[in-house]
Amino acid sequence: MSVRYCPECGTAVERRLVHDRERPVCAACGFIHYEHSRPCVGVLVVEQGKVLLVERAVEPFLGYWDVPGGFLEAGEHPAAGAAREMREETGLEIEPTEVLGLFMDVYGDQGIATLNICYLARVIGGELRAGDDAAGLRWHPLDRLPNNIAFNWERGAMEELKRRGGEESKSRGGRSRAPSPEP
Ligand SMILES: [Zn+2]
Repeated sequence: MSVRYCPECGTAVERRLVHDRERPVCAACGFIHYEHSRPCVGVLVVEQGKVLLVERAVEPFLGYWDVPGGFLEAGEHPAAGAAREMREETGLEIEPTEVLGLFMDVYGDQGIATLNICYLARVIGGELRAGDDAAGLRWHPLDRLPNNIAFNWERGAMEELKRRGGEESKSRGGRSRAPSPEP
């Protein structure tokens, strides 16, 4: 994604080579627009060999399976963003256990560059229910993942997860799947 007009003076920008990259530059006032990848989070919970994915109810990739997550708010720590997105999209309270990896991608028609921080997490509470942007939620066996996974980075994350042998999320009283009776 890029700018078309200078945010300082409103003149149409042109692309020029600055510091080894083509960047939008304002010929009138000299403003240089430095573009950055947008940080996003994704959350993978694995229980009994299955990973929780969200069926998208919105474009892009309507009807495709998605890793729960999204764009970080300004100033939001990625771990807090991960918990917020999981709460919104799945109803589950989670605790990130580790970072599975960092994955680069692009988003949407404008090709917004994204930096996707993918957490592994365990469920610590909540009740499974699909949020507004989700058509449904499903636990997918890692050895039978759907072909229509929404984003490139998510396919990369799935490969990394499988490479690690589908590490189970160490559930601590989570009730996402099969509530175990109190002893
Ligand atoms: Zn300008």
